[in-house]
Amino acid sequence: MKRAVYLETFGCQMNELDSELIGGALRTLGYTFTDQPAEASVVLYNTCSVREHAEQKVWSRLGEMAVRKSREPDLVVGVLGCMAEREGEKLMRRMPVVDIMVGPGELDKLPGLLDNAIRTRLSLLDDPRTQRLASTPWPDRPKTADLLSAGQVALQGNANRRSATLAAAQDTLELLDLSRAIDPETLGGKSAAGKSAYVRITRGCNKFCTYCVVPFTRGAEVHRPPEHIVDECKRLADAGMTEVTLLGQTVNHYRFEHGASVSIGGITQPQKGRAYGVGGDASGDPHRGEHVTTFADLLAMIHERVPGILRLRFVTSFPRSFGNDILQVMRDSPRMCRYIHVPAQTGSDRLLKLMNRQYTVSEYFEFLDRARAMLHQPEIGRPLTIAGDMIVGFPTETPEDHQASMDLLSRARYKNCYIFKYSPRPGTIAIDKYADDVPDAVKRARNNELLLHQNTISEQVGGEFVGQTMSVFVTGMSKLAVRRARPAAAAAASATTGRVSLTISGKPTSSEHSPHTHEHASPDNDDGCSISGSSVMTEQGPRSTLETASATTPASGPVQMAARTEGDVIAFFEMPNRTKAELLIGQIVRLRMTGNQPLALLGELADAVPGQANVQVS
Ligand code: SF4
Repeated sequence: MKRAVYLETFGCQMNELDSELIGGALRTLGYTFTDQPAEASVVLYNTCSVREHAEQKVWSRLGEMAVRKSREPDLVVGVLGCMAEREGEKLMRRMPVVDIMVGPGELDKLPGLLDNAIRTRLSLLDDPRTQRLASTPWPDRPKTADLLSAGQVALQGNANRRSATLAAAQDTLELLDLSRAIDPETLGGKSAAGKSAYVRITRGCNKFCTYCVVPFTRGAEVHRPPEHIVDECKRLADAGMTEVTLLGQTVNHYRFEHGASVSIGGITQPQKGRAYGVGGDASGDPHRGEHVTTFADLLAMIHERVPGILRLRFVTSFPRSFGNDILQVMRDSPRMCRYIHVPAQTGSDRLLKLMNRQYTVSEYFEFLDRARAMLHQPEIGRPLTIAGDMIVGFPTETPEDHQASMDLLSRARYKNCYIFKYSPRPGTIAIDKYADDVPDAVKRARNNELLLHQNTISEQVGGEFVGQTMSVFVTGMSKLAVRRARPAAAAAASATTGRVSLTISGKPTSSEHSPHTHEHASPDNDDGCSISGSSVMTEQGPRSTLETASATTPASGPVQMAARTEGDVIAFFEMPNRTKAELLIGQIVRLRMTGNQPLALLGELADAVPGQANVQVS
C-alpha cells in the first residue's frame, strides 16, 4: 500500500515548482499527500541553501523527526534540493534519521529512491538484529544511528551536475518537467493558486556571483526546448490557468540552440527557431531566427500560440544583456505583464566587482532608463514597475558604498526591494575569499536605513497609481482584514452600487508583500523585507502563504480581497459577501485605485457586468 507523504518546501519559486513536479510524479504512482506531518509516514523537505535561516529550520525539523522515528521506525525521511547537494554525506552523518537525499539535479530519481527506502526500512524492521536492538528497553536502547547501522543501506541521490553525466542528468530532468501532471481537478477549484502556474525555462546558472551557492547546487545553465515550454503552457491554459510565470535564475538569458541538445526520451525536437514579433537583430544575436530561439522569441511564441494565458510574466532578470528585442515583445504583447524584477545588489561599482556581478551601476541605470522609455505608459493604465534586491554589509562595505546603495534606491524607484543582510554561506566563493568584516550591528543599522528609505519610495510609487484604473489578478480573500461588520448604511450603499470605499487597518504583513521569494538572495535576513517562507504540498499542489483565507472568512458580510496588478503590486478591494468574492478568485478584473500604503494599493471595482456582482472579467 502506498503511503501518505508530507512535503514541505523552503525557499524560492524554483523549489515550489520542483515540489509540484515531484508531487505529481508521486501522486501518479499512488502516493497520497497530507499537510499534517503527524499523519504522514513519508516526510520530505525540499530545501534551500541560499539563506541560513531556511537551513536552520530544516535542521530543526530533522531533529523532531529523529525523536519521532525512535517511536515509529518505519518513518521514511528525505532531504531534497540544495541542502542535499551542498551537504552531501555530511548531512546523513549528522542526521542519520535521513533515509534519502536528492539534489536538485536528480529529482527525477526520487520515486525510485523512495520506493527503495520504504522497502529497505520494512526489511530492516523484519531483520532479527534490528528487532533485537529495537526491543531493548530504555535507557539501554541504542540510538537511531545504531539501529540504522544494523543494516540500512544509505540511499543517496545527490549529484554534481557539472560532471560527465550532465547530458544524461538533463535528459531525465527534462522528462520530469515533461511529465508534469496538469489535472484540472486538482489544480483548479476556488484557489488562485490553481489559476497561476510556474513554468521553468532554464535550469542552473553560469554567473558565479561570489555570494551565491546556486551555480554549485543547481549546476550549469541549461535551456529547455521552446516547443516543450509552449506545450506546457498550452496544457496549463487548457486546465484553466489564467497566469503563467516563466522561471529561470537569469531568465532573460534564455537562448536555445536547435540541434545542440540531445534527443529526449524519443520526443521530437523542435524545428529551427523563428524570429517572432520584432524581426531584425534587436537581440544582437547574429544567429537569431536561423537556429537560435532567444528569450524574446520564446515570449512572442507563447503569447501568440497560447491566447488562453491572460497573464504572462517572468522572473528573475539579470541586468546585463537585457536586449530591446525583449522590451519590444513586452510592449507589443497585451497579455505580457509590465513588470521586471532585476536585482542590482549594491550601488557601489567596487562592490559589484567583488560580487562578480559583471555590470556597473551606470550600465544598470542605462537598462532601467531604456526599459522605462519603452514600457512605462501610465496614461493607458500600463505603467512599468521594477523590483530589486539589495545586499547590505557585503565584505569591505564602507559608509560611502552604503550611501551609494541609498542613492541607487532613490534613482531606481523600485516598487519594492528585497533587502538582505550579508552572511557568508558555505559553498560560495565569497566565504573563502573575503572576510565577513562588517560588524553585525552596522549591517543591521544599514539594513534598517535602506528599508525605511525603500518604504518611502514604495509609498510614493504606489501613490502615482492612485486614480488609475488597472487590471488585477485576484489572488484570494485577504487574510488580514476580513471585515466582519460594517455600518448598515455603508453596507446598503455597497449593495446598491457594488462599489465600496475601503479602509484597511494595519499594514500588510510580509506574507502579503509579494508572491516572490527571490532565488538569488544570498544572505540571511532576520529583519529584512524578504518574504521567504515555506509551503506545504497538499492534494491541490503547493499551498502558498499568500493566497486565500477562505477557511476563516465568515459566510456573510463584506469580504476584503487581495489581488496583484500586472506590475506585481498588491491591491486590496472589497466585495459585499463571500459568495460574490469566491466568483472572482483567479480572475482578472479592473480596479480603480483609491488609495495606497507603502506596499499595497487600495481600490474598488471599476466596471460592471450585469449579474456578475458588478465585476468586469477580462
Ligand atoms: S545571484 Fe543569481 S545570477 Fe548570481 S550566481 Fe546566484 S543565481 Fe546566478
